[in-house]
Amino acid sequence: KAAGRNTYREFEPNAGARIATRGQLALDMKEAIRAQEFHLVYQPVVDAETGAVVSFEALMRWRHPIQGEIPPSAFIPLAEEAGLIVPLGAWALHEACREAVSWPAPIRVAVNVSGVQLRRAGLEATVLAALAGSGLSADRLKLEVTESVLMQDSEVIIASLHRLRALGVLIALDDFGTGYSSLSYLRRFPFDKIKIDRAFIRDIADPDAAAIVRAVVSIGERLGMGIVAEGVETIEQLDLVRQEGCTQVQGFLFSRPLPPDAARSYVDFASQIHPSRFAQFAPPS
Ligand code: C2E
Ligand code: MG
Ligand code: MG
Ligand code: MG
Repeated sequence: KAAGRNTYREFEPNAGARIATRGQLALDMKEAIRAQEFHLVYQPVVDAETGAVVSFEALMRWRHPIQGEIPPSAFIPLAEEAGLIVPLGAWALHEACREAVSWPAPIRVAVNVSGVQLRRAGLEATVLAALAGSGLSADRLKLEVTESVLMQDSEVIIASLHRLRALGVLIALDDFGTGYSSLSYLRRFPFDKIKIDRAFIRDIADPDAAAIVRAVVSIGERLGMGIVAEGVETIEQLDLVRQEGCTQVQGFLFSRPLPPDAARSYVDFASQIHPSRFAQFAPPS
C-alpha cells in the first residue's frame, strides 16, 4: 500500500519543451476558437443506488491540428492567463445547454466555470443567453466552481455566485477538500452540491480517508448540500463511498467522458439496468 497508493503523477513533458510551446499554444487558441477545434465531452454522474443518470458534466477538449488531443489541464490555465477563457467559456455554456435540451428531463448539465469568468461582469448575461438560445430551463444547468477559485477575491466571487443563483441555476463546489480552508467556504455560500475530490475516493480503502468522506457527507446533509463522489474507478470504491453515504457518483467505473451521441445512448443504457441489480453491482464487503 505504501508503495503505490499515495504516489500519483500526471504525465508531464520535459519542462523546456513545455515552455517553448506555451506561447505558441496561446496564439493557436485564438485561431482554434474560430476554427472550431474545441468540443465538449460529457461524463455521466449517476445515482449511487440506482445507477440512473442524474446529470452529465461537460468537459472541454481541444483537437489541435498538429498536437492532437490536448487535455484541459494543458490549455485552461493558458486560456485564463490570456483572457481567452471568457469567449471559450461562453462557447462552452451555449454548446452544453444546446446539447442538454436533447436529454430527457430532469437530467442536468454541469459546466465548469473559471474564476476569471466569475470576476468579470457579463457571466450572468452569458448564462441567460445560453439558456434562452437553447430553451433549457435554468434549473437544469449547474455551474461548477473549484475551491481554489474562492481563495482569491472571494467577496467578488461570492457576490457573482449569488447573482447566478438568482437566475435559477445550481452551483456546485468542485474538487472539495483540496483547498486550504475547505470548510470555511461552506459557510460562505449555500452550494447545491459538494463534489468530493477524487484524491479522497482514490484512498477510500484507508479508514482515515473514509472517515473524512463520512464527515463531509454528514456536513453536507446538515447544510442541505448533496454529495457527489468524483473519480470512482472500482467496484470496491463504489461500495465504500455508498457505505459512507455519498448519493451520487461519477467516474471511469461508469463511464469516461463521452461524445454527445454516446452520452445519449448511455442514458438509455443506464435506464435499463434494474435498480436492484445495480445495488448488487458492488460485492459484499
Ligand atoms: P473537474 O471539473 O474536476 O473534472 C473531472 C475530471 O476528472 C475530468 O478531467 C475527468 O475526465 C476526470 N475523471 C473523471 N472520472 C475519473 C476517474 O474515475 N479517474 C480519473 N483518474 N479521472 C477521472 P478532464 O476532463 O481532464 O478535466 C480536468 C479539469 O479541467 C476539470 O476538472 C476542470 O477543472 C477543468 N475543465 C474541463 N473543462 C472545462 C471547461 O469547460 N471550463 C473550465 N473552466 N474548466 C474546465
Ligand atoms: Mg468539474
Ligand atoms: Mg472535480
Ligand atoms: Mg479538477
